Amino acid sequence: MNRVNGVPIADYPEASARIQSAVTNKRLGRALSPEVIGSVVADFVAGRVPDYQMAAWLATVACRGLDGTELAELTRAYVSGGQRLDLCGLDRPVLDKHSTGGVGDKCSLVVAPVVAACGPAVVKMSGRALGYAGGTIDKLESIAGLRLDLAPDEVYRTATEVGMVITGQSAALAPGDEATYALRDVTGTVESIPLIAASIISKKLTVGADALVLDVKTGAGALIPDRGQAALLAGTMVDLASASGLPCRAVLSDMSQPLGYAVGNALEVREALAVLRGESVPGLSQVCATLARIMLQSADLALGDAEADDRVAGVLSDGSAYELFLRWVAAQGGDPRRLEQPDGLPVAPYVETVTADRAGWVREVEPRAIGAAAIRVGAGRLTHGARIDHAAGVLVHRRVGSRLAAGEPLAEIQYTTGDVRRAVALVRSAFTVADEPPEPVPVIHAVLDPGGQPD
Ligand code: URA
Repeated sequence: MNRVNGVPIADYPEASARIQSAVTNKRLGRALSPEVIGSVVADFVAGRVPDYQMAAWLATVACRGLDGTELAELTRAYVSGGQRLDLCGLDRPVLDKHSTGGVGDKCSLVVAPVVAACGPAVVKMSGRALGYAGGTIDKLESIAGLRLDLAPDEVYRTATEVGMVITGQSAALAPGDEATYALRDVTGTVESIPLIAASIISKKLTVGADALVLDVKTGAGALIPDRGQAALLAGTMVDLASASGLPCRAVLSDMSQPLGYAVGNALEVREALAVLRGESVPGLSQVCATLARIMLQSADLALGDAEADDRVAGVLSDGSAYELFLRWVAAQGGDPRRLEQPDGLPVAPYVETVTADRAGWVREVEPRAIGAAAIRVGAGRLTHGARIDHAAGVLVHRRVGSRLAAGEPLAEIQYTTGDVRRAVALVRSAFTVADEPPEPVPVIHAVLDPGGQPD
């Protein structure tokens, strides 16, 4: 007899019948009523339906899609039953930022302290890795002692005292997203526009910031690689958030190669810290600067581009963004002094370097292969709930457009254990070296406003 939370599934015949009917109707292309969507999510959150039935529902939604009403209802259902943060009493605007994720995407670790150092508070609820894309929470768990499961009163206190909060989703906040998120990761249902939109916007509505800026990635390493589909996802989320009273803009940014050089949890934290200390990292620095500018402009509609850019550059060059990050680490239980030490973040004992077998120009660094290589050595999960090795990952040495001599390092794999031979093969397969330099690809493809076309 199959069991849910130790109780035979036969004891929940109504819930089982409800979800089977919802799967059948969606499979036949019929719109689901708000009551049906609400009960599917509530039954799953309450443990009345097992993973396999929810997986079937998610897969059917991923294939058939949701209309606007169904999507709004799924988003509401994800939020339902959970708490909402109340940040109204803060003495400054509260901003939120979210990325659809990509290989080497550590923008939140830079943008949150940069914006907070400029004045507005940044309060962000983040997730774990999905598919090839790493997750902010997994990355931050590289920092010993850092607490990423804050209760609502702790969120409020940290936002008041430091101006920056990053915490994980929990059963108390957006319980429907919390319950379905990890299941999507292992059921091939991550890359679905309505499922991504409901997951992200439910978390954002729970936080209740004054404005939201989304970073929607496009290109081979993004959840939605196709530019047109990524723009559709961006527009869907901007409209969904705005219709729920959360002003929202979206940036469509490039993920046709890993962002920056580092892919893997502690490696990415280290790279983000380097940017916060004023270093420029190609691709990463530009995307972070754009996101930070648009966030500042969401808090102050009269702020011009040049002034916003100056503020961002100012808090990076005078060290105040870095200082704010350290204060935030301390406020959430970590030891900021450790971040100043070379071994303050996990370091892998072994390094395998992959070199170029010919001279030429780097034409492609295929990000999914790099992400898969990092996962092979333990930087991400191959199975539901697997443990992550925070030290492991890939450090890319050469980005698209670099000129190379034969034998020069392309990338290194840092690892303790795992399938290193497969990781090496994946990293090698990621690089295409050609005789001619490639056409440059812009880092930012478009910025979207509510109801607007990409500009
Ligand atoms: N980030 C999320 O929070 N949810 C998704 O579905 C994808 C990216």
